[in-house]
Amino acid sequence: MSIAPTGKSETGDPLLLTPGPLTTSKTTKQAMVHDWGSRDATFLAANAAMLKRIAAMAERADSHVTVPVQGSGTFAVEAMITSMVPRGGKLLLAINGAYGVRAKKIADIAGRATASVEFPEDRPVDPAAVDAALAADASITHVFVVHCETTSGVLNPVDAVAKVVAARGRRLLVDAMSAFGALGLSRDTKYDALAASSNKCIEGVPGLGFVICDKAAIVAAKGQATTLTLDLHDQWANFEKTGQWRFTPPVHAIMGFSQALDEHAAEGGVAGRGGRYARNCKVLVDGMRKMGFATLLPDALQAPIIVTIHMPADPKFVFQTFYDRLKDLGYVIYPGKLTVADSFRIGCIGRLDETHMKGALAAIAAVMAEMGVASGAPARKAA
Ligand SMILES: *Cc1c(COP(=O)(O)O)cnc(C)c1O
Repeated sequence: MSIAPTGKSETGDPLLLTPGPLTTSKTTKQAMVHDWGSRDATFLAANAAMLKRIAAMAERADSHVTVPVQGSGTFAVEAMITSMVPRGGKLLLAINGAYGVRAKKIADIAGRATASVEFPEDRPVDPAAVDAALAADASITHVFVVHCETTSGVLNPVDAVAKVVAARGRRLLVDAMSAFGALGLSRDTKYDALAASSNKCIEGVPGLGFVICDKAAIVAAKGQATTLTLDLHDQWANFEKTGQWRFTPPVHAIMGFSQALDEHAAEGGVAGRGGRYARNCKVLVDGMRKMGFATLLPDALQAPIIVTIHMPADPKFVFQTFYDRLKDLGYVIYPGKLTVADSFRIGCIGRLDETHMKGALAAIAAVMAEMGVASGAPARKAA
């Protein structure tokens, strides 16, 4: 893998240390510099291959099908919830961050009955609490859980949650947006649907969401959707019948994504990609701690996707200046989204390796020195 020197992507852009859109390879961008019609044979072949490769990446090529959805990841989550949960169903949401809250909003707007079990943003979902909620309410048909809650970067125990959901005879929906392609699930884990998108760990550009659906569940979803555009059954049935999208496909995003899938495979698939991100995460966390910063999460709860860092206590630290100066040096970080603590976030995903993370740490040290901030220590020492 050839990666440009620190502080600049292969195409001269600042590096995006964000949860997506993120830094993509030059070859992925170059794969898009053509025009294709939506019925172009090259495009349709790439599209069909893409759908097969996604289900294979999930290790569910025999049991599941991939149904793509135009739009960002939230479109795929909304398609999943409103197509899979019938009007008379009830969805239990396990919430420990903004993406769980968003899923509940989707279900509420769609008029689906909901219940929720909530956890602090710096704690994982507890499978025992999900089990208790299912035991207490026989009308719950489906359970929703997020794999990596990008709000904090916490890793949720989806395999364990799936076990209690299956044992109680209910059905599982997973938002694996920021994990898919880097963190897998056990092969035995049962889910009716799992949603992800093109612009996170597979390192494509935005524009394409997809839902990996159990074959029996997608067949059973006929007539359940409450929108036309996000009807997963109709989208799937049309691919089965014609091999084509119902409405204008994001052709460029798909052609770029096909190249990104090649590069994902060349890196060693999920294990290879996840390994690089884990190294990025370790370099970042170790380096930040050396400068006095504290992470929100202890290492055992941290997914190697995005790291939440407490705001330093030093009054000379001004986040906007910090952010702007890092951008000048070629590193784009991400503001915090937590309600529990004042924080910012740095992503470990995208076309970045340890050299880039070390470059980012050097830039952070330089900006701290400029601001006259001696330590990144927060007011109250955390993890
Ligand atoms: C990125 C993300 C989404 C989708 O967000 P979009 O802005 O619509 O792409 C959903 N869930 C999680 C956990 C995410 O990280």
